[in-house]
Amino acid sequence: MSELPTPSNAAVGSAERPLRVAVIGSGPAGVYAADILTKSDEVKSGELTVSIDLFDRYPAPYGLIRYGVAPDHPRIKGIVNALHKVLDRGDIRFFGNVDYGTDLSLDDLRKHYDAVIFATGAIKDADLNIPGVELEGSFGGADFVSWYDGHPDVSREWPLEAKEVAVIGNGNVALDVARVLSKHADDLLVTEIPDNVYAGLKASPVTDVHVFGRRGPAQIKFTPLELRELSHSQDVDIILYAEDFEFDEASDEAIQSNNQIKNMVGTLTNWFAEQPEDLSELTASRRLHLHFLHSPVEITDSPETPGKVAGIRFERTELDGTGNARGTGEYVDYPVQAVYRTIGYFGSPLPGVEFDHRKGIVTNDGGRVLDASGAPVPGVYATGWIKRGPVGLIGHTKGDALETITHLLEDRTALPVADDAAENAVVALLESRGVQYTSWDGWNRLDAHERALGAEATANGGSHGVSVERERIKVVSREEMVSISRDGAGAVVGS
Ligand code: NAP
Repeated sequence: MSELPTPSNAAVGSAERPLRVAVIGSGPAGVYAADILTKSDEVKSGELTVSIDLFDRYPAPYGLIRYGVAPDHPRIKGIVNALHKVLDRGDIRFFGNVDYGTDLSLDDLRKHYDAVIFATGAIKDADLNIPGVELEGSFGGADFVSWYDGHPDVSREWPLEAKEVAVIGNGNVALDVARVLSKHADDLLVTEIPDNVYAGLKASPVTDVHVFGRRGPAQIKFTPLELRELSHSQDVDIILYAEDFEFDEASDEAIQSNNQIKNMVGTLTNWFAEQPEDLSELTASRRLHLHFLHSPVEITDSPETPGKVAGIRFERTELDGTGNARGTGEYVDYPVQAVYRTIGYFGSPLPGVEFDHRKGIVTNDGGRVLDASGAPVPGVYATGWIKRGPVGLIGHTKGDALETITHLLEDRTALPVADDAAENAVVALLESRGVQYTSWDGWNRLDAHERALGAEATANGGSHGVSVERERIKVVSREEMVSISRDGAGAVVGS
């Protein structure tokens, strides 16, 4: 029940009746949007008062940073510190373990908030439509990332039985997947990897990881730092192939005009130049092969063990002068026992919201969510990968959030006014539904617990017989995360 009479638009945003905003998703996109709104000129000048609740389906905050960034990328994890500072201020409430669509519907949100911003990202793999994609041993890269990042909703076990593996795609996710697959598990112990992930990787018999791009070395979507990092893995040799070094006019132009491409083509060329002609002179126990101009055609079945991946067939491609590739009619087979598809992420539809199934995004215009007729849905917005698709680095999400918030502020006087905007109304609703939501204080408890696990392992001389300093060990199970977060103090919301 509302404690306040329903106000007119004019009264919304006053000190007595703040503009109530729900943000769905506490990854970088959601936190940036909430932060930008609280720091807007309107709010800073006192013209507008806002009250923001941030919801996440996971018991912990940070979305992609916790469940999408490779564990051996602490530099990117540093973004967590910035996000932590925003949420630790206390002016944005965090509700974890709340699933939009199950625990809260759009109608619920519209009843309690004047505006809703979806920042749910993209976590599924884009489809690769080739025969054999359903075979056992054919994996979505995004699922593997979720596994090694200790995502609460994926199986604890991952079948790492292959000696030879193919990774399809030439983006940074392909590099992450190939690096984690080829790296020795002990070298990942300095990271926050959960014990089940260490155990799985430690037992992996892998010897050769092949990464395949369908275009040339100047068309890669890697970034320079991430590419160079491949050579830092211990006891892993990188192997390149002369026939893959093809450059067309568009490649030359890209190399001249784009420093990143120039830099990466330089890295690949140097690696190739340093490689012995006789590959048997290489000494590492694992090899990471980088192939270009290979377009996947079919994942092949095993005659001995039907239903299991036994290989992968590619059509060799050539550049067409514009940087695009065309098939040559030449086919080549590689024996592999596992295939990882890392050809991009794809967004998932959200109940009650129009979805563009071709692009995998919420239908929107500059962050204003549109209905089936193309008209803006008053008070409903989107930001981040669910708004523009899974492209760009984390920092790019800030500009995106700024656009969405600018539009929200432009629409401010025309927003539909929530019936029941009292801050405790949504808490009462969640409790009435038995939702075991977590809070910011709860996250601080879980964070401290994970750090304590790391400190304990360090004090005991490391992990698994390897002497390493461990900053944190992630808790994986949702039940355990919720119970540690809610421990003792019950559900303390906000700060
Ligand atoms: P991405 O950068 O878009 O790369 C996708 C790759 O898949 C491209 O090489 C693409 O080739 C290829 N591909 C697409 N469809 C294909 C098909 N049918 N057959 C063969 N290859 C196909 O996507 P991503 O790697 O998922 O990365 C998503 C975003 O996250 C990027 O902005 C990335 O930089 C970022 N990210 C950053 C890091 C980091 O450490 N900095 C880590 C992970 C992700 P074409 O170019 O020919 O289309």
